[in-house]
Amino acid sequence: MARRLLGHNVNRRGRTNGDESIEIPVAKDLEKDPATMRREDEITFYNREYPLESFAIAESASAEWAGTVRDEFSPETTKLYEKFQKEMEPAIDWVRHSGELQPTGQPTGEDVTVSLREKAYELGYGEVGFTRFDRRYIYQVRRKDVRADLPHAICLALEQDYVGTQTLPSLEAEVAQGEAYKRQAELAEKLVAHINALGYSAQVSGPTWHFGPMIPMFVESGLGQLGVNGQLLSPHFGSRARLQIILTNAKVTHDKPVDYGIHKFCEVCQVCFMRCPGRAIQGQRLWFRGVEKAKLIYKRCRPVMARYSGCGVCMKVCPIQKYGLKPTMDHYLETGEILGKGTSNLEAYELPDKGYFRPGKLPVFGAEFFRMPVGRTEDHIVEGYKEGLAEASTKEEREKVWEKYRESMEKALQQGTTIVDMGMDLAN
Ligand code: SF4
Ligand code: SF4
Repeated sequence: MARRLLGHNVNRRGRTNGDESIEIPVAKDLEKDPATMRREDEITFYNREYPLESFAIAESASAEWAGTVRDEFSPETTKLYEKFQKEMEPAIDWVRHSGELQPTGQPTGEDVTVSLREKAYELGYGEVGFTRFDRRYIYQVRRKDVRADLPHAICLALEQDYVGTQTLPSLEAEVAQGEAYKRQAELAEKLVAHINALGYSAQVSGPTWHFGPMIPMFVESGLGQLGVNGQLLSPHFGSRARLQIILTNAKVTHDKPVDYGIHKFCEVCQVCFMRCPGRAIQGQRLWFRGVEKAKLIYKRCRPVMARYSGCGVCMKVCPIQKYGLKPTMDHYLETGEILGKGTSNLEAYELPDKGYFRPGKLPVFGAEFFRMPVGRTEDHIVEGYKEGLAEASTKEEREKVWEKYRESMEKALQQGTTIVDMGMDLAN
């Protein structure tokens, strides 16, 4: 490989408040206009005809299954999640009702972008951006809860602990994630108090309670680009970013999407695609709901996550996460190569019952490993009822099948959605 031609530089603020700004070089062969990665008409069409729904509802059948598998396979992970869920309970409640808080000051009507940005950095957020709140990304279940009078989205990324993250998949990494969620809740309370004091309203999405997917708005506000691993790759900490959005009616100026070269870089890199233990990541992007993205195969991911502490190998092995975007892009410009690719430092990981996997080696799982219920719990119960009826030959057997169906359906409807993975899947 050889040195690449420089296309353009992206100037970004330093990693933490007070740090010098950085210049990220984007090689000419990696340039791609962000506007060409979205089709607005398609996003609108899918939103209207096939509205988004929370995974906790759309895939509720596997949530309970995942919990049972995790309890058997890794009870210490269950214990850790339970601890964090308990600690997060007040925060979940606060986030859910944050839109009901009343402004405490008098609004001036002036543009407060600079003041909000500075306040957010001062509090400890690592990336801050502004964009239009795109209501096409609200889950069906949330439509009644999201305020209609808050047109702007403040996108806020918080860095998760570096050292813990490099041990993925592990309990240590899950602690890093749980601590980041707790910190997000603390910071959001402070920022919302600030917005309310300026005389404006705010409503928080994340941690633990989300209006819908947040990455599209982070991309629109120039805070990174979507990686093949399905995660936001932000300039300073790649996918080691925990995301939050605060909706507001304060007057702000919107940022613009930025071409960091990530879209095409992923096409050359492919490390997460090659290292995923479940072979759940697709190397090639396709058009899905108006966005050009690599679609993750959920059925191959959840069984791995359930057994191996939430997995996250796709986060760990990403060079942009491990080394940062600037060193990764500097290296690409200089050599045409992917920093760390092919080295154990970047690509190796360990699974407790399977051992250590250096570059080129992957664990093998049988078909049984991936067998899990898919879709909604209710649909699953109806399917079971139909099968039971087909097999029943007497009136008594049919009544038993009916009784089992009724009990299971009542239980499912009462239960709502199952909380898994530290409450991140909470949908009701
Ligand atoms: S979490 Fe694990 S199984 Fe799922 S996509 Fe990432 S690496 Fe693959
Ligand atoms: S590992 Fe490589 S291909 Fe995967 S998201 Fe990171 S940069 Fe893109």
